[in-house]
Amino acid sequence: MVDELGARFASAGHEIALVGGPVRDILLGRGSKDLDFATSARPEAVEKLLAGWADHVWDIGKAFGTIGCRKGEWVLEITTYRSESYDRTSRKPEVEYGDNLEGDLARRDFAMNAMAVRLPSHEFVDPYGGRADVANKMIRTPGSPEDSFSDDPLRMMRAARFAAQLDFTPDPAVVAAMTTMAERITIVSAERVRDELIKLICAPHPRIGLDLLVSTGLADHVLPELPALRLEDDEHHRHKDVYQHSLTVLDQAIDLEDRLDDVETPDFVVRFAALIHDIGKPRTRKFEGDGKVTFHHHDVVGAKLARKRMKALRFSNEQIEQVSKLVELHLRFHGYGTGEWTDSAVRRYVRDAGELLSRLHVLTRADSTTRNKRKAEALRSAYDDLEKRIEQLREQEKLDAIRPDLDGNQIME
Ligand code: ATP
Ligand code: MG
Repeated sequence: MVDELGARFASAGHEIALVGGPVRDILLGRGSKDLDFATSARPEAVEKLLAGWADHVWDIGKAFGTIGCRKGEWVLEITTYRSESYDRTSRKPEVEYGDNLEGDLARRDFAMNAMAVRLPSHEFVDPYGGRADVANKMIRTPGSPEDSFSDDPLRMMRAARFAAQLDFTPDPAVVAAMTTMAERITIVSAERVRDELIKLICAPHPRIGLDLLVSTGLADHVLPELPALRLEDDEHHRHKDVYQHSLTVLDQAIDLEDRLDDVETPDFVVRFAALIHDIGKPRTRKFEGDGKVTFHHHDVVGAKLARKRMKALRFSNEQIEQVSKLVELHLRFHGYGTGEWTDSAVRRYVRDAGELLSRLHVLTRADSTTRNKRKAEALRSAYDDLEKRIEQLREQEKLDAIRPDLDGNQIME
């Protein structure tokens, strides 16, 4: 398939090469049906060349030089060579077409993403040592990280995202540049930051990416509520570090994700809610006279903070409502087990959770971790009990629906 495409472009006098993510992923031993190509042909010529060959051709962003097509089970994105130039002051990178592959690779974010295979010759092009980086699990920029990140500060977020996806380590020079240039992320549009954040959170190792965001100071500009969770212990060292706790809850939520049979996983909503479920704590913390620490209504305050932050990051209304509602409901279960919940209390729990019930189960279970194993076990079994009662009530309601105990008058009515 790929060689056919190469021959087609070559016979029209154009260059084409497999580039970026797919080349990196092949070296990592993970192939995919989604392939990216770079070509010397302009978008109009690309469209014409694909028209007689692909099953379906569409415009992904002709203005930016990208045409998409499907050929059998393969989905291809073909982008005209771009040159290095970015407008440093603009919020969106500017597009300028280039005329060679090397120039196109030079403007890419990381060496591991700046590899290509020319077609149809199969010549492997790796000007910045991307293959070695993949072997060493390293994230390095083609040129100096400072220049690269001034060209497009979003690349700092991308470094954290790839670290989380691939379990790679950014080069110390990359981390240093992220640290000194963190503030520059503020010139990038919220939508672009949001999209990288979603990919990071939904990655196999979000903790790695989040720790990078926090330690470099990027999080101070992107999600300041997260570093704010690093609460110093109180004078009695009684309170656990809420930041570490939040990462643990996120890890647990990921482990429990297969219980979410009604949503596609990885699920951003439950993961993000797990990460920020306690963001109301720093604002509500009070040291009581007797050495006790309280966080009055931190669930309500946290839900409000979540809503505000997610709005600023231009998340969809649905995502905002879902995450903030989970934050608001995550403490409800705390009353369970101590006092008896009546059937109507259980029903209210189900009704308030609505479509979020399975996510609330995961979040609450994930949050039932304490340093004390016995206590954690007790919480887990209390939650098992709650889920069982929900199930029983459901069965009961089904029966009631089949044989409603109405009297004759009610039936006539
Ligand atoms: P995935 O699609 O799995 O998220 P990817 O590596 O394909 O991973 P994309 O965000 O799809 O990443 O970008 C495709 C390619 O475009 C990258 O491999 C990289 O070479 C280049 N690229 C994307 N964004 C930038 C950027 N901000 N600066 C420089 N190069 C970029
Ligand atoms: Mg891609």
